[in-house]
Amino acid sequence: MTTPRIEIDLAKIAHNAKNLKRLYGSKGIDIIGVTKGVCGSPDIADTLVKSGICVLADSRISNIRRMREAGIEAEFLMLRTPIPSQAESVVKYADISINSEVSVVKSLSKFAVEYNVTHKIILMVELGDLGVGLMPSDLEDTVEEVTDLKGIELAGIGTNLACQGGIKPDEEKMGHLSSLAREVEEKFDLTLEFVSGGNSANYTWFTSTEDVGRINNFRLGESIYLGCETLYRTPIPGLFTDAFTLVAEVIESKIKPSVPYGEVCQDVSGNIPAFQDRGQIRRAILGIGLQDVLVSGLTPGSDIDILGMSSDYIIVDAKQTDLKVGDEVEFSLNYRGLLSAMTSPDVMKKYE
Ligand SMILES: *Cc1c(COP(=O)(O)O)cnc(C)c1O
Repeated sequence: MTTPRIEIDLAKIAHNAKNLKRLYGSKGIDIIGVTKGVCGSPDIADTLVKSGICVLADSRISNIRRMREAGIEAEFLMLRTPIPSQAESVVKYADISINSEVSVVKSLSKFAVEYNVTHKIILMVELGDLGVGLMPSDLEDTVEEVTDLKGIELAGIGTNLACQGGIKPDEEKMGHLSSLAREVEEKFDLTLEFVSGGNSANYTWFTSTEDVGRINNFRLGESIYLGCETLYRTPIPGLFTDAFTLVAEVIESKIKPSVPYGEVCQDVSGNIPAFQDRGQIRRAILGIGLQDVLVSGLTPGSDIDILGMSSDYIIVDAKQTDLKVGDEVEFSLNYRGLLSAMTSPDVMKKYE
């Protein structure tokens, strides 16, 4: 079978999704399935929906559109605050979007009226990670402005931590979001459908807290696909961590020195390379490179070492493995590796 390819075990993804839904559901927290890490794959989206997930979130219009056009029956959430010039497509293809700028919500409102739809928004609140979000002190004024807009429904508030700043979603942060939700609900006499506390990094807080407060939603990508939480990248008990395997093929295998010979100048990346002398080694060259996948996101499944890479190749020290031309080599992927492989048109997707 052709390589490079990524093998995707849909049964393992379904198992992880169902188990996370049950776990978080035990304290009243529903989950949104985030599909950006798998490039809005309709096969995976379908698996998530069949596992009981009703809202799918993606950060690309093209991915949401692909899932819709494949007939996936879910509510779609735009997970990147809309690019202002794409406001019309966001209204057209997404049912919900996260937002932090009133001017953008006004633009969404204009198109919602034009298309005669109600577009739901979740206002993102900054709680210290310094990514997307309005300052908590601006929340009430912002709610006041957006609730006046035609075609817009304030469906919730949310926050995103452990992303830009690596800030832990802890009892204090979640308590803060809960109290903001209560304040907004009381002051404006409304019920927020989503109080979205975070992402795969919220597992540790969830398992340790006595009371989840008003938090009723998480947006999950990595823990569904890779079976781990994301503060320490510890596997979550009972989940599969091997739903995805990347397979590449040996295209050259020869005994060569481990240190290049000749006058050293810049390498392909513009660096002056340094090499560890391992003596004569079996150097195997694989037919996959940076144009296909983020190589730093790969871990070999066998005892070989990645020595180098270019746009087209990965070079490995085969060590005790007798790699021959045409042999397949397997890798596990971290989230960025997964995202890059799923996005690459040259990596074949094999669903099983
Ligand atoms: C990507 C993303 C998520 C999902 O994060 P995971 O760590 O993969 O669970 C959640 N929320 C926002 C805003 C995101 O951009």
